[in-house]
This record gives sequence, C-alpha cells and structure tokens, in this order.
Amino acid sequence: MAGRNHLFIPGPTNVPHEVLSAMHIPMEDHRSPVFPKLLTPLLQDLKKVFKTETGQAFIFPATGTAGWEVALTNTLNPGDKVLIYRFGQFSHLWAEMAKRLGFDVEIHQETWGKGIPLDKIEARLKEDTQHEIKAVLATHNETATGVTSDIGGVRKALNAANHPALLFVDGVSSIASIDFRMDEWGVDGAISGSQKGFMLPAGGAFLAFSQKALQAAETSTYPRCFLDLKDQVNANKDGYTPYTPNLPLLYGLRKSLDLLLEEGLENVYARHFRLAEGVRKAVAAWGLTQCAQPGFESNTVTAIVVPEGKDAKTVISIAFNKYNISLGAGLSEVAGKVFRIGHVGDMNDVSLLGAIAGVEMALLDSGIDIKPGSGVAAAIEYYRATAK
Ligand SMILES: *Cc1c(COP(=O)(O)O)cnc(C)c1O
Repeated sequence: MAGRNHLFIPGPTNVPHEVLSAMHIPMEDHRSPVFPKLLTPLLQDLKKVFKTETGQAFIFPATGTAGWEVALTNTLNPGDKVLIYRFGQFSHLWAEMAKRLGFDVEIHQETWGKGIPLDKIEARLKEDTQHEIKAVLATHNETATGVTSDIGGVRKALNAANHPALLFVDGVSSIASIDFRMDEWGVDGAISGSQKGFMLPAGGAFLAFSQKALQAAETSTYPRCFLDLKDQVNANKDGYTPYTPNLPLLYGLRKSLDLLLEEGLENVYARHFRLAEGVRKAVAAWGLTQCAQPGFESNTVTAIVVPEGKDAKTVISIAFNKYNISLGAGLSEVAGKVFRIGHVGDMNDVSLLGAIAGVEMALLDSGIDIKPGSGVAAAIEYYRATAK
C-alpha cells in the first residue's frame, strides 16, 4: 500500500527522524577511552527525566519487563511479601512475575478502568504493623486500560502508615510523557523502557533506584547475574558497562534526551495532556466511552469501549487492512471490548487527527453508529482553541 503505515499503538511509538539518523552509526569499541563520554552524560541526563538528584540511573540492554525483575531481585530476599493492586494486563504480568520468582505476592483485584485505590492501600499498610510487606508495586500508567494512578498519593499512604516498604513504580508508559517525580514522591525504583515516551526502538530498560534501594541491594540474597545492579554500579562509575551495550540505542537516546530536554519536560507533559484531551473530546462526540473511569484518564493512551454486541477486533483489523493504521488491541479481560489509540512520544495535532479520522472510517465500516466527522470536528475545535 502506498503511503505510510500510521502507528498509533502505545509502544513501540514513532521514532523521530533525528533519532533514526542518530542511530545510523558504525560500531565502535565500547572499551575505548572515549566511550565514557557517551555513557556518563546519558546516565546523568536520564536522572533529569526521572526527576531524581539523589537516586542513580541505569541502562540495561533489555526491555521494561526486565526492569520489573531488576527491582525485585536486587532488593528483596526470596519469599519476601510484596503488595500489588491489579487492574490491567501490565499490573497482572508484574504480579505474575513476582509469583514466578518465588515472592509472596499479595494481589488486590481492582476494576479494570480504575487505578490504585489510595484509601484501601493506606488502610492495608496501616494494618501491617509487623511490616511484613517489603515492597509496594505500583503501575503508574496501566497501558492496557488507559489508566493513570496517583503515585504521590501512594507515597502519602506509605507515610501515613509510617511504613518502610520500598516503593517500586512501573513508569514504562508514563516516564518522559506524563508528570513523574521520583525524589518528591519517594520512589525507590522507577522502571521505564526505550520504546514509549523515549521514542526509541525497544531494547533499553531505563531505570533509577534510590539510595535506600541500592542499600537493600547490598544485603539482598536473591540470586541474580545478568540483571545485577552492583555489576552496573561498578562498571558505570568509570563510564563503562558490565557487558556489550546496545550502541545504536545509546546514540539514539542521546538524541531523544536532547529533544525532550530542549522541549522542556513540563512542555512535554502539557503536550501529551492536550493531545489526549482532543482524543477524549472525539470519543465523547462519537457517543462512545473510555475504559478509564473519570479521574484516571491517561495522557499517553486512550482505550475506547465499543458498543455491546460489537467486536473491537473488527475495528482494529479494518483500520489496519483498509486504512493502514495500527491501533492498539484490547488485552486479556478487555480483548474485543476495547481498542486503543496511543498518543505518546513523537506526536502532534495533525498526526493525531489522522488517527481520529481513520478510526471514524473503521467504526463506520464496522457498523458502529457514529456521525461521520463528529470526532474530528470536536478535536479540531479543541486543538484550534488551545494551539499556541
Ligand atoms: C510496555 C509496558 C511494559 C513493558 O513491556 P516490554 O515489552 O517489556 O518493554 C511494562 N509496563 C507497562 C505499563 C507497559 O506499557
């Protein structure tokens, strides 16, 4: 098919031209005396994106999933109790990983469409007077349902209970696109990945750990090797890595950090809010609903519920086959019930309007009764009124 495939999934996201070009490099010796000039500033600038001065940033040649494992296996001991609220496919997978790694996982089921219930988590932590819970696992942005949780609120709950548990946050689809403040929120382990807000291909787990977490790594007896933080600390202090780095990704990250910091993180967050808000106006104009309940709407991905009796998979396959647009599928519990529009990373008004128009065509072709142009009209009015 002539023309581009239009990628509107919440990861991997579109890679800007400048980043693609920056990755087109000959390989070089990662043990040369100049390699630290690349790596050390990357680790420093990552800290700016995580908003941490006291923590330490890490890059593993892996994905977000490995980031979950780094946090668990470097700081805890076998059999330790961890607490997690599960309300979508990613929080589910993190809980399953913790089980498979032999931790004692306390799972609290929440409605898909809601996020972490702050009152309940505070009550549960207060009840744990023996401090059996060693870590709280919080999914900041549940990509499966388009739900954002209040991580500052989780920190408040821990403080209100005077609870010493480590706070680990999955920010894979929020960091570098939705407000995230590691130090201010007392996050002990922040987990992100290259292929969402960082606008890179998959293959980089970008992490930051607090001093408290790094101290826990000193005494943790959990076996680990490839994902060992201490090996990274030792090699990184001289600007090197414990094994071969993903060199093109590092050059791409240099460019993507430059783009993010040049735009300014606050502007990046505001852009994502505004883009998301236009999509939300379109959804309302179609007469459809979001999977996210009010107050939990994500600025990086919107999950849209199709009417009863319709299959979201039809919408997605028509969008792809007929109009060359990639939309996100509903996962697991919401498979067939929702489709998702990713609006994270390298995105602007007109690109996203293409998605909204394409979705309208696919909805109409699927026999879903919407008024042609209604979503586009709602979004263009909002974008026009709010463009600078
Ligand atoms: C994409 C994503 C992940 C990690 O996925 P990988 O495929 O391992 O990079 C984890 N959590 C959330 C919330 C995600 O969106």
